[in-house]
Amino acid sequence: MTAPYRSQSFTIGATPGHVLIIGGGIGGLCLAQGLQKAGISCAVYEREHSVADRLQGYRVHISPTGSRALHECLPPRLFDAFARTCGTGIGGAHFYTERMSTLMTVDAGDIAHADPITCHRSASRITLRQVLMSGVENLHFGKAFMRYETDGGRVVAHFEDGSWAEGDVLVAADGGGSRVRRQFLPEVERVDTGVVAIGAKIFLDEAREKIDLRFLDGISLVATRGVGLFVAPQEFDGRPIDDIGANAGVPAEAGNIFDNTRSYLMWGLSGRPASLGLVRPVEELDSAALLDIAARTMRGWAPPLRILVDLCDPTTVSAFRIRTSRRVAAWPTQRITLIGDAIHAMTPYRGIGANVALKDAMRLMHALTAAQRGESDLIEALHEYEAGMLNYSFRAVENSLKAMHQTLDRGPLGLLVSRTLFRIVDRLPPVKRLMAMRMGEE
Ligand SMILES: Cc1cc2nc3c(=O)[nH]c(=O)nc-3n(C[C@H](O)[C@H](O)[C@H](O)COP(=O)(O)OP(=O)(O)OC[C@H]3O[C@@H](n4cnc5c(N)ncnc54)[C@H](O)[C@@H]3O)c2cc1C
Repeated sequence: MTAPYRSQSFTIGATPGHVLIIGGGIGGLCLAQGLQKAGISCAVYEREHSVADRLQGYRVHISPTGSRALHECLPPRLFDAFARTCGTGIGGAHFYTERMSTLMTVDAGDIAHADPITCHRSASRITLRQVLMSGVENLHFGKAFMRYETDGGRVVAHFEDGSWAEGDVLVAADGGGSRVRRQFLPEVERVDTGVVAIGAKIFLDEAREKIDLRFLDGISLVATRGVGLFVAPQEFDGRPIDDIGANAGVPAEAGNIFDNTRSYLMWGLSGRPASLGLVRPVEELDSAALLDIAARTMRGWAPPLRILVDLCDPTTVSAFRIRTSRRVAAWPTQRITLIGDAIHAMTPYRGIGANVALKDAMRLMHALTAAQRGESDLIEALHEYEAGMLNYSFRAVENSLKAMHQTLDRGPLGLLVSRTLFRIVDRLPPVKRLMAMRMGEE
């Protein structure tokens, strides 16, 4: 049994309050940091045993929204460590054809925020997790949530190992496959878009001189008949801070895919199975087969693009299905609430899912702090959090889905029109800046 940890500072009615957070990913850990900073008792229950149990992706773009949330939730020392261990230089956004002809280039200056807190950042997922885990007092690994039960004002979470924990509020931060959501909102489901993605890392210490320099300046995007390619560098300057930005917590046997110190270029190729020539489920394919699919899909593309497949480290190849979710109607607010992918999984085509999860964490922290201070009734505070979250997060879900369709589902005429528009906008700096500002805000 896991003994609940209670502080005397957070009161809901007459009961000392304690928040149970299921899932120690980006959203759950950020919430725990924020609650701890606000003096609110909480505990995180994470099913994994170590940071290297599951590939969490390679890098993650942190937008002004995400940076602001991290700044509010983290203690200053940790925010500073986060900012200093992010990838160097954010670079611009470059749109190319499969022949590497430039359609549009958005300069870094047009996207960047001068503000040192809310600027755009490129974070290693492992480093971000190290930052978010650092100093969290009640973080329990190996605790796979199974189900909850409610009893009056209390919520009890049960775990696969037979243990349980009791609290006043239960937060589902357990990602896209959320078991909490399946019990709490059984009608809400994630939706498989049918699109699959293959990704890999190229280590720059081994291959820098063979890579087209254009790929090292920010993100590069290629969209052509049913297939999209995303390329982005993650350059470390090699200065971990108190193990943050090092390989601490990553077992040696985890391999290159979890290496957190060598600069790399990552690429992700996505498309519908027919466009990729996939005849078997992607889960059944090993890295050689996945690379073969990538190479065949990119046959006929410009050499700087094709060579990305040859240069990658085969042990870093991964593949996954792209999922999204459907807009959820508001439910009667209870002491169980949700943040991040647990409620609004979205496609990665806008690169904003983590940032929305961070925003949820910050807003929920504010709601619980208001309840703690007696400025708001708990259920009212949670309701306000949920109403706002359902609004902005499902706009993000819909925009991310639209971006996926725009990347993959244009016919020959649509592709021609969109390429022409990109080329026109590229020659109209004020329009391009406006577009960049909107992209940057997201
Ligand atoms: C390829 C790709 C690229 C992306 N790029 C970006 C990007 O650049 N920018 C961006 O903002 N977003 C990006 N995203 C989206 C982003 O990764 C997610 O939106 C984000 O991780 C959601 O955070 P979360 O905390 O809700 O869930 P997660 O980070 O998935 O965390 C959920 C946690 O819950 C744990 N868990 C699950 N089930 C249980 C259980 N039963 N019991 C206990 N613990 C459990 C998991 O182990 C995990 O640690 C990308 C996504 C993909 C797939």
